Amino acid sequence: MKRAFVIGHPINHSRSPLIHGHWLRAHGIDGSYEAIDVAPPDLPAFFARVSAGEFVGGNVTIPHKEAAFAFADELDPLCETIGAANTLLWRPDSVLGFNTDYLGFLGNLDQNAPGWDDGLETAIVIGAGGAARAILVALKSRNVPIIHLLNRTIEKAQDLAIDLEGPIKAGRLGDFAGVATGAGLVVNCSSVGMHGSSFEGIDLRLLPKSAVVTDLVYVPLETPLLAAARQAGLKTVDGLGMLLHQAVPGFEAWFGVRPEVTPELRRLVEATL
Ligand code: NAP
Repeated sequence: MKRAFVIGHPINHSRSPLIHGHWLRAHGIDGSYEAIDVAPPDLPAFFARVSAGEFVGGNVTIPHKEAAFAFADELDPLCETIGAANTLLWRPDSVLGFNTDYLGFLGNLDQNAPGWDDGLETAIVIGAGGAARAILVALKSRNVPIIHLLNRTIEKAQDLAIDLEGPIKAGRLGDFAGVATGAGLVVNCSSVGMHGSSFEGIDLRLLPKSAVVTDLVYVPLETPLLAAARQAGLKTVDGLGMLLHQAVPGFEAWFGVRPEVTPELRRLVEATL
């Protein structure tokens, strides 16, 4: 039986076993996907099990994504740019590391806001943490000409803009009003929106009516930012789709079948939020 894993610390909140378990059943695959809590001191021993071929591969979540990046023998080129691996694939001669967050982000927008990048001139990315790195790489891969990266701590946005190079202009959250009128996409990559928190001073009514607003936060499913966007008549895409879509490439690599993000799967996971 092919075995896959998700490791993290803690790990019991992860929805990944639900997602992959659903696909294993749907495709009648004799495989498993196990959530394993691995504390940082136990990580080398776990990676030794991975190298030995006990699993076909697995997912890696907080706080092990950088360690997985360092552990992998080979890296997908975009994973190398992002600097963190969330997916490992065992092969007889090497372990490959890749990062599916950026693919999940793109897959979610492609499915739920088709054409979102057609003629897109300017995007606004809010937040400059680990998730923002993957989103910036994703937007660069779609050749978005101007990306405004706004963050509470401007130095972090500046560092990220320099590190990733390209058309990224760093700014503060307060710069939103100055760049909103030309923006066709707003992505919240900050943790604002969790636990009822919301932005102050970000007025989405300044955006063009055709703009798309998406949030990586998916608990709650409709964040205050998405609610404000909906009220302003803008197209919204929630963060749950990204979680579902980022699981697709790993499943395909481990089990040899490309699974689909269906309404049924979405309902299954939504019921647990
Ligand atoms: P992170 O590395 O900790 O970064 C957090 C970011 O949020 C930083 O830019 C931080 O700004 C900003 N922030 C935090 N509190 C703030 C506040 N009160 N006001 C303004 N900015 C604030 O986290 P991450 O890993 O990038 O994840 C960010 C969010 O994305 C999390 O909610 C995570 O759950 C979500 N996420 C979702 C998916 C998905 O599949 N949907 C995937 C990955 C991540 P400073 O730099 O100023 O501290």
